[in-house]
Amino acid sequence: MKYFSTRGGDERLSFEEAVLTGLAPNGGLYIPLEIPSLPENWEALWADYTFQQLSHAILSLFISPDEISSKELQILIDRSYENFRHPEVTPVVPIGDKLHVLELWHGPTYAFKDVALQLLGNLFEFFLKRRNVGKVGKARDKLTVVGATSGDTGSAAIYGLRNKLDISIFILHPKGRVSPIQEAQMTTVTDPNVHNIAVKGTFDDCQDIVKALFADKEFNATHRLGAINSINWARILAQTVYYFSAYFHVKRQLPSPSAQIQFVVPSGNFGDALAGWYAKRMGLPMAQLGIATNANDILARFWQTGRYEKNDASSGPGSGGVKETLSPAMDILVSSNFERLLWYLAFESLQGDESAETKRLKACEVLKGWMDSVKIDGKAVVPTAVLELARKEFVADRASDSLTAETIKSYYTAKPPYIADPHTAVGLAVARVFAQYNEPNIHQVVLSTAHPAKFSEAVTMSLSGMGLDFDKEVLPEEFKGLLEKPRRVKDVEAAEVALVKHVIEKALEHDTEVQEAKAHSGKVSS
Ligand SMILES: *Cc1c(COP(=O)(O)O)cnc(C)c1O
Repeated sequence: MKYFSTRGGDERLSFEEAVLTGLAPNGGLYIPLEIPSLPENWEALWADYTFQQLSHAILSLFISPDEISSKELQILIDRSYENFRHPEVTPVVPIGDKLHVLELWHGPTYAFKDVALQLLGNLFEFFLKRRNVGKVGKARDKLTVVGATSGDTGSAAIYGLRNKLDISIFILHPKGRVSPIQEAQMTTVTDPNVHNIAVKGTFDDCQDIVKALFADKEFNATHRLGAINSINWARILAQTVYYFSAYFHVKRQLPSPSAQIQFVVPSGNFGDALAGWYAKRMGLPMAQLGIATNANDILARFWQTGRYEKNDASSGPGSGGVKETLSPAMDILVSSNFERLLWYLAFESLQGDESAETKRLKACEVLKGWMDSVKIDGKAVVPTAVLELARKEFVADRASDSLTAETIKSYYTAKPPYIADPHTAVGLAVARVFAQYNEPNIHQVVLSTAHPAKFSEAVTMSLSGMGLDFDKEVLPEEFKGLLEKPRRVKDVEAAEVALVKHVIEKALEHDTEVQEAKAHSGKVSS
């Protein structure tokens, strides 16, 4: 299977190249030349597979065995999920009539991003090890992962990459502006290859610095920067798996064979939802996918209007910028992965019987036009035919903060009670709206993207006066004492690229020494 950029060009990359490169040089995202179909007998064959076996079956459709052998792939997958606390990895929990939650947060950092980042870390390590066979010293290929975080991504990336040979990871966070638990999760990881940088500034400052480093050709070439955000294809691919595992789980329990499943996905950068769409395209039976946003509702507005527009024009001038909500991991202005879906919409709305290759080129041109106008005018308007295609496959809506808080409360007082984190609650709130219009044979599965303890303020605020004993009912054992553990973090006193660059280069010198000693002793991470 080869990969190409949504914005065109002749590049045809292997899976390895697509994963190591992250973002295409022309600004596009990598997608597979074709979406593979499921094997004829998939439903019978896979019905009793474990999560790890399912992952192997699905990933094999996208990765040639001459890139990663079947056996090696299974080892990488097994290793990626051995640190999950639940035997099913991503269990499904019934919480109401025709309503389930798919809990994606049983990994090391209690957030759904672990599902993909544990695998990504192992893939990076696998590729580097292979490139470095017989190489010593300066000749070894290294990867320097640099990312900015306002919380969730940083800790999941750190746990995915800690202690990996020939990889250093630098995570920038705005000093004092991430939640105490999330800050502790990141900075209490003291493996020598993990570097937390606390920048005096905002999240946007951090992100700007990271962008500047990636754009710095010399710095990038010297240190081979790697991307861990959800533009990385491996993250999307890893996330398709739980749609299948949830499908089999719920199907086993459904009374009637004609029952259908609707997944509802709390969305920010659209990575998680896009993975569901790929699963659908491969052939997993499901009803329209449900997209749930908070007040940062560019996606909900797209399905309403066909305009993909940064700022909500209807709320008047000066309303621009990201809104701070109770579900901060979904506070975005644009959804980076939406570009991938837009490419497919452009492709599938093309008329005529040209070759697939010609259509691909045309779709890239159309897509590039849309992305250029987002960049220049802050918006792109798609033709009616494209919007109709999008509406056939998705429904979308938003939930305000007050509705989110009410929803947390209403599921806490339901029977059986369920404590949802604010992101999951956005999904639950919107699912309730969709349910009013759904056919009676539809059962909903809401993706639960974080453990409620990660967003303690929103949860305790929503449940104030309800007699919640947070430490007893919500806080996991692992979080207790986390705040007191030793930390490793480097402060940067101003949001300046040069300062961060200096910190990174200094640290890399030291990492190289440590890693060479490690490579020499033959001790590698498990
Ligand atoms: C990242 C994240 C999301 C949004 O996922 P996308 O793939 O960006 O749409 C939702 N909830 C939580 C808790 C997250 O960390």
